[in-house]
Amino acid sequence: MQEYDVVIIGSGLGGLLCANILAEEGYKVCVLEKNQQIGGNLQTFVRDRVIFDTGVHYLGGLGEGENLNRFFNYFGIMDKLKLEKMDEDGFDILTFEGDNNQYPYAQGYENFICVLTEKFPAEQKAIQKYCDEIKKVCLRFPLYNLRNGESYNSDSELLQTNAKDFIASLTKNEKLRNVLAGTNLLYAGIGEKTPFYIHALVVNSYILSAWRLIDGGSQIAKLLVKNIRKSGGDIFKRSEVKQLKFEGDEIRSAELTNGKTVKGKLFISNAHPLTTLELLEQGKVRKSYYTRFKSLENSVSSFSLYLVFKKNKVRYVKHNNYHFKTNDVWKPVDYKENEWPLSYGAFMVSTSKTKEYAEGMAVLTYMKFDEVKKWQNTSSTVAHPDFRGEDYEEFKRRKSEILLDELEKKFPGIRANTKAYYSSTPLSYRDYIASPSGSMYGIVKDCFDPVKTMVPARTKVKNLFFTGQNLHFHGVLGVTVSAFVTCSEILGLDYLLEKIAKKERNVSKP
Ligand SMILES: Cc1cc2nc3c(=O)[nH]c(=O)nc-3n(C[C@H](O)[C@H](O)[C@H](O)COP(=O)(O)OP(=O)(O)OC[C@H]3O[C@@H](n4cnc5c(N)ncnc54)[C@H](O)[C@@H]3O)c2cc1C
Repeated sequence: MQEYDVVIIGSGLGGLLCANILAEEGYKVCVLEKNQQIGGNLQTFVRDRVIFDTGVHYLGGLGEGENLNRFFNYFGIMDKLKLEKMDEDGFDILTFEGDNNQYPYAQGYENFICVLTEKFPAEQKAIQKYCDEIKKVCLRFPLYNLRNGESYNSDSELLQTNAKDFIASLTKNEKLRNVLAGTNLLYAGIGEKTPFYIHALVVNSYILSAWRLIDGGSQIAKLLVKNIRKSGGDIFKRSEVKQLKFEGDEIRSAELTNGKTVKGKLFISNAHPLTTLELLEQGKVRKSYYTRFKSLENSVSSFSLYLVFKKNKVRYVKHNNYHFKTNDVWKPVDYKENEWPLSYGAFMVSTSKTKEYAEGMAVLTYMKFDEVKKWQNTSSTVAHPDFRGEDYEEFKRRKSEILLDELEKKFPGIRANTKAYYSSTPLSYRDYIASPSGSMYGIVKDCFDPVKTMVPARTKVKNLFFTGQNLHFHGVLGVTVSAFVTCSEILGLDYLLEKIAKKERNVSKP
């Protein structure tokens, strides 16, 4: 039986990026994915000939010289992506029930300050300070800026600054506080917990530049798969790892639910840390290590509504909408069932077919796992389809209708212009991603207990590493940084950064 140098569990972005890096360095790599489709949250699906994204609706930092652009250049995929730059003067528009104003986030810091100051003329200083602080915080994360440097792990001030409190300290203007924190759906912000650095790392990348992926995010996965195969790597779909088998204190093989066994020297798991530890043979790590992960809170999940629009009815716009039914943007994450949904994010589908009219829209709103607990013993994916029951379908219909009613208030006529709708619940995310309770972004970072909620790439098993959104931070950018953190454990960070620099030097040569 062939023995791989590296076996990667999961083909989410983190798994694919690690496979790319290591395969290019000559390691014989194998990626095992349980689903029919590669990509984890990069997966797309088609309904009524419209391509919908499941977990990536827009990206930041892809402008020339910006961090994600430089990372993607290293992977050789930047110039192959089908991208569309969003509106310069308002890529995200925030609105609040009972307030007719629109609050836009503009691209570029100067523009961001200028556009928001028009809405808050007396608050220019606060907006400027907010931007300065975001930039300052981002500079404290070396790898985010593609350089090596001092670890931030012991910087308690940085890790313990709370996002909600910090933003509140900048201004007494309640509306501005809410506007500055208003895209917190991007990180499922919790007022009492989310650190300001998470807010800064995420929001900064979009303020630098904001982009949609034309025809969906799965193109990233497809390009990475091509690279991996070109470098001699193997990728197996419908290959769910059931158990990681040991010889002594090291893992030697992955046993799959389809009866196959894959042998390897090193193992990288792109699955959630808890999901990963549950794959280990019993007694191979201390119970306290497992209990530590078990005790960590995971971010809330999402109810996602996918609207297919009637042909040539809804004008295509290059911005997203974040709408709030409450004047406290930190409240929706902890909604009560009878007030759901307190907020939503609406993301138009970008297609190569037309730019005048929209084909569809994805609408995301928080949903707690408890709402679908009744069906927790069911499981359904394309690879293993099942019917969860008519009562589940009825639940989805009811929730979709409530959300549609809310959308109709903000976008009058949207219901009449909708040809069909589809929805997904926390169970869909749980079954497709294997994240506990369908969590959107994995382990919650807590500014009051920062060390506990940090996940290092190295595990208590010598030849097992973690990668993906639970490490550094989530999102396409966060996961990309995490892949470098993981691979630097094998190759060394200076070596990897020099590789990136070398590629950049080669490209800039005349
Ligand atoms: C609703 C939603 C919207 C989002 N929007 C954005 C956005 O607009 N922009 C952005 O940058 N980010 C966004 N994100 C976040 C982003 O999608 C994720 O942070 C990122 O894609 C996670 O990548 P990952 O590498 O951690 O892997 P994941 O995507 O979590 O994938 C893990 C993979 O491991 C596989 N796996 C698990 N267990 C096993 C096993 N036992 N055997 C084999 N395979 C296994 C799973 O099937 C899956 O393919 C969004 C996320 C969600 C949920």
